[in-house]
Amino acid sequence: MPSYNVAPLSRLIEQFERLPGIGHKSAQRLAYHVLGMKEDEAKAFANAILEAHEKIHYCKICCNLTDQELCPVCREEGRDHSIICVVEDPRDVIALERTHEFRAMYHVLHGAISPLSGVGPEQLCIKELLARVKDPKVKEVIMATNPTVEGEATAMYISRLLKPMGIKVTRLAYGIPVGGDLEYADEVTLSRALEGRSEL
Ligand SMILES: [Zn+2]
Repeated sequence: MPSYNVAPLSRLIEQFERLPGIGHKSAQRLAYHVLGMKEDEAKAFANAILEAHEKIHYCKICCNLTDQELCPVCREEGRDHSIICVVEDPRDVIALERTHEFRAMYHVLHGAISPLSGVGPEQLCIKELLARVKDPKVKEVIMATNPTVEGEATAMYISRLLKPMGIKVTRLAYGIPVGGDLEYADEVTLSRALEGRSEL
């Protein structure tokens, strides 16, 4: 049997297959699409991946993604530095910013505590948060982790660390469906969740 396997093509399919939500068939389709690109298109595509990796890092203050020293929220003047809203994912910041109601600061954890997936507190940006709240300006921390088992566990874990430091810790109200993702909540639901937050 002759082999129809072309090694560079197989490698490309393999790479696409590693992406979330992409099965073998989709990976094949994407790989063939890339093969059909013009040379400069293919280079732009590959460069976009490399550039994003090289230039994007965590904001020095809030751990959000940025290509500068500070993210746009931390750079913005006139925001309320006494409240920090803690989220799991940079996309949650974008969702909350869309409400135009929240004018304070954020902190991005980059995940939630999940013993089943082997994610412990030390893998999240928690120590950076603890360092931030030592600033006497900080009065309240809003736990805006997702209403999932992992998000709840993370909110509880962090609130236990913060309360002895004299920080008011609140949790988003539940307009957000349990098990849901903050990122997908609409602006009205998110605004209400912020308004109706309660102390943990
Ligand atoms: Zn920032």
